[in-house]
Amino acid sequence: MLKQNKPNWCVGCGNYGILAALKKALSDLNLEPHNTVVIGGIGCGGMLPYWLHTYSFIGLHGRALAIATGIKLSKSTLHVIVVAGDGDTYGIGMNHFINCARRDVNILCIVSNNGVYGLTKGQASPTAPRGFQSPTTPNGNPYNGINPLNLALASGCNFVSRGYAGNVAHLIELIKQGISHKGFALLDVLQPCTTFNKQFNYAYYQEKTKPIEINNINSDIFVAYKLANIDTNIPIGIYYKKKYEE
Ligand code: SF4
Repeated sequence: MLKQNKPNWCVGCGNYGILAALKKALSDLNLEPHNTVVIGGIGCGGMLPYWLHTYSFIGLHGRALAIATGIKLSKSTLHVIVVAGDGDTYGIGMNHFINCARRDVNILCIVSNNGVYGLTKGQASPTAPRGFQSPTTPNGNPYNGINPLNLALASGCNFVSRGYAGNVAHLIELIKQGISHKGFALLDVLQPCTTFNKQFNYAYYQEKTKPIEINNINSDIFVAYKLANIDTNIPIGIYYKKKYEE
């Protein structure tokens, strides 16, 4: 894939935090570039593989997980990571998301979740809550937003986590845990879009996010559902990790 020198994201875009965290995590884990593949979706966050020194692939909208599945099945020794947006993963690509989760394909799926389709001028995405104002919903989003953590748990995902692009140190550890997990891992990252999402900005997430101790691994799915449905704050960390039989 043709690489460009540096990211072309807007000033302050949360994708910078995700890129920094992913680079550091890959370095900390000593993953060799020739054994690592990062697959992007279509969207601002999906362009992230351009700026990594690994193998990479950017496919059609919503199909990043399908491509990643094919790569992993064809060469299981590769470390396979997907970076795609919330519209990409939970909208047009939702079918692939559900099926990857239930098949437990050994992939880390990082979702750059900003509530909008940033690349196409900020339309409300599937995770935008009811009432959310965007250029295409000036009177408020008439639909309920998807809770991706509930969706992942219900789909059989055995590693469900959430990070925040403004807390890079915490995000690095989540990425390392997600890569090390032997199965399908979701890392939904709250990613401020400084251009099109003025409601869920850094100030909002700085106040709302509450880190869970990284080594505090929960294997109780009912506790995970409770964490995923707290509305007073937003836990960031590992909501659920299944214990596999040895
Ligand atoms: Fe980032 Fe939003 Fe700009 Fe896209 S439109 S690069 S998500 S700030």
